[in-house]
Amino acid sequence: MKDETALREAVCTLAASLFARGFSVGSAGNISVRLEDGVLITPTNSCLGRLDPARLSRLDAAWRHIGGDAPSKEVFMHRAFYQARAEAQAVVHLHSTWATAVACLEEVDARAPIPPLTPYFVMRIGETLPVVRYFRPGDPAMEPAIAAAARTARAVLLANHGPVVSGASLTDAVYAAEELEEAAKLFMLLRGERVRRLTSAQVADLGRRFG
Ligand SMILES: [Zn+2]
Repeated sequence: MKDETALREAVCTLAASLFARGFSVGSAGNISVRLEDGVLITPTNSCLGRLDPARLSRLDAAWRHIGGDAPSKEVFMHRAFYQARAEAQAVVHLHSTWATAVACLEEVDARAPIPPLTPYFVMRIGETLPVVRYFRPGDPAMEPAIAAAARTARAVLLANHGPVVSGASLTDAVYAAEELEEAAKLFMLLRGERVRRLTSAQVADLGRRFG
């Protein structure tokens, strides 16, 4: 049985931490967590730095709004992940600078735009990070596109928009979003340099040990 009160507090604490470190500005970004009988998600137009646990949007198992403030307009991104990935218990969407920078690059591998530079990126995100093509914010066609990509990946990059990251718990999803942002920063800092990537054998070893 999940403790909803503790999860509400945890969403607000982790969101404030992301905001304080510049992973989110203004009202950008949203966080959701699965409950036994529905979902909690940050409200529309809310600032991750100043959330009120009592006002988080409460949705039922059919994604109907049953409590708190109105949910984020990007709620369907979260639904796409929960429907595609049975193990997903939380989803974090940010417009964080470095991951979004990668999401704006013209010539990247659309299945793995960030190369395996560090083991923690591979362990938290995996080998695949699909780039989902650009959609206008709120376009309902984005949901099936994200769901299709999420079936083979824990996280996706929305082209010219930002990352969406799932996790097996709330902290897992937040840590993965942070690791993705740092990996994107390293990748962008090292563009043009000769870099030593992890080899496919090293990546496979991480998959076997930490899969
Ligand atoms: Zn967004």
